[in-house]
Amino acid sequence: MNEENKVNQPFTCGNCRVAACEYREENRYPKGCLTANVDTEMLAKAKELYLNDELNQKLMQVSAEIESQFYGKYTRVEETIEFIKRFGAKKVGIATCVGLINETGIFASLLKKHNIEYYAVGCKIGAIEKSEIGIPLENTLLKGAKYESMCNPIMQAMALNAQKTDLNILIGLCVGHDSLFIRYSDAPVTVMIVKDRVTGHNPAVPLYTCKSIYSRI
Ligand code: SF4
Repeated sequence: MNEENKVNQPFTCGNCRVAACEYREENRYPKGCLTANVDTEMLAKAKELYLNDELNQKLMQVSAEIESQFYGKYTRVEETIEFIKRFGAKKVGIATCVGLINETGIFASLLKKHNIEYYAVGCKIGAIEKSEIGIPLENTLLKGAKYESMCNPIMQAMALNAQKTDLNILIGLCVGHDSLFIRYSDAPVTVMIVKDRVTGHNPAVPLYTCKSIYSRI
């Protein structure tokens, strides 16, 4: 029995191959479709939050503008810069992995060129040793061979909160550390680069090649 078979997995959108909800093609909804069986109260509540919360409304409006005007034309870098401008962020926060500090430097210089104020914080801020928060030696990279600072996503969020940034941008935070950053960020968060050390930060690669190169997954 493989791992998947051990889980009692109900039908969800993860099993759907038609995505008929995209154009509300009701005659194509699959059995167990989450739209056909939607919790109407929950749906109404979500709609209300888009309409009646100023920040939510703005995020949705600007996202729609970017999608409709630059679909398939703008790269993520261009979309992000456009988003910052249209969202009207006065100050942008960048939470970066120190492993991507050069890429952050390039992105930051582009922001400057576009007259966008930014404040960037690297993941090792404070240089706390991993053992100080109880990370065992076997879960360190260098196994005690050298001082090894932990990533500090909570502090990154706190530092950007203190700067009162209007929008925070993630550049290459580790999986899990990004969860902590998002949890503690006051400002809305968007992602510029998702870390994947093996694929040059393109996590979709193993999905495209899971029947060949990445069949091990
Ligand atoms: S809501 Fe229904 S149609 Fe849409 S992706 Fe999910 S299962 Fe498919």
